Amino acid sequence: MVEPFAYSLPTEIVFGFGKLGELPALLESRGVKKCVLVCDRFFAKKGDELLKTTAQICAVFADVEPNPQLSGVEEAVRLVKEHDADAVLALGGGSAMDTAKFAAACANSEHTPNEHFDGAPFGKKGAKVFAVPTTAGTGAEVTGVAVISRGNEKKTIHYPTFYPDVCIVDPALTLTVPPFVTMITGLDAFTHAIEAFWSVRHSAVSDLFAVEAMRVILSSLEDAYRTGGKEARTGMAYGSLLAGLAFSVAKTAGCHACSYPLSMVHHLPHGEACAFTLDSFIRMNADDRLEGLAKTLGFKGCGALADEIARLKVLGGLRTRLSQCEGEIDLDRLAGESASHMLMRNNPVQFGKDELRKMFETLI
Ligand code: NAD
Repeated sequence: MVEPFAYSLPTEIVFGFGKLGELPALLESRGVKKCVLVCDRFFAKKGDELLKTTAQICAVFADVEPNPQLSGVEEAVRLVKEHDADAVLALGGGSAMDTAKFAAACANSEHTPNEHFDGAPFGKKGAKVFAVPTTAGTGAEVTGVAVISRGNEKKTIHYPTFYPDVCIVDPALTLTVPPFVTMITGLDAFTHAIEAFWSVRHSAVSDLFAVEAMRVILSSLEDAYRTGGKEARTGMAYGSLLAGLAFSVAKTAGCHACSYPLSMVHHLPHGEACAFTLDSFIRMNADDRLEGLAKTLGFKGCGALADEIARLKVLGGLRTRLSQCEGEIDLDRLAGESASHMLMRNNPVQFGKDELRKMFETLI
């Protein structure tokens, strides 16, 4: 029987190879007069090109760094206010999209980004948000979430106006992603899908997106990593989008809870940090429902699915042991911060500090 659910998405999605070409028309259709472009450093040249060719773009902030800092948000807000812009356009991975979402929400606010980081409410809608992902991983183009850091403090902030108004998912933009980033972002997308599936907040409709996302990602990721071809990149962009649609309502769980201390203490990039415990959680969360999922995906069971994730991690050159990572190993801190993270409550099995410590012990 289908359990009751609610699903809504305020974001218009435009998907397809070469669809970035529709940007000027989409900005016009939404009545955008002036737009600040926030882009990844890799796209600084492309940003200058868009500034010249897209009438609505009035300024470019091209200094977004991975695990984006609040200082980047502050600079983007400064440009929005200086130009009296009514939209912010993100071109980049999750880091650029999250910077743009947070900056747009601050546009008409009496509070500073710093005050919002400390919890001041955003109030009415700020500038419009246009999101153009250039990695196939975060799904941030369809979520009401921004992950921003202030120094060593990394926060996930949920707010309804963070949902982009429009996203353009153009797989052509991902052709240049290097193999290692392809693998970590691809496994991030897979983690979103499986965590949405096993989250205690999953529903019939999020399951639909999640299962298809996992199927598409598993059939595209190795090829995207090895050859980076058009078909595999398109599969990954689609799989990542579907995974975003799944977890935007069902949320993520144990792997993401553990990813925060792993990123902060051991400086793992987001996707690698999520993948670090993914195969462990597949084994630890295994139940009849998950065994059924593994079979649907073409595996004998959860053990075989976990083995496949472990194989992809080794293939991609990801770190699989704490001893390979930077920073001092502090199992109590890792287990304690993971256990107390709010996302751990979405995990189908409630693991406390002791169980998580045992898991991290096997990963030394
Ligand atoms: P990223 O945006 O940090 O980019 C990773 C690297 O890839 C950077 O060095 C960047 O320059 C490079 N890059 C990006 N696109 C490229 C391209 N097309 N060609 C070549 N290089 C390219 O990585 P990400 O994994 O997309 O985003 C991670 C961030 O997103 C983290 O801060 C994470 O916490 C956050 N996140 C947000 C959400 C959300 O819903 N808002 C969801 C998951 C993760």
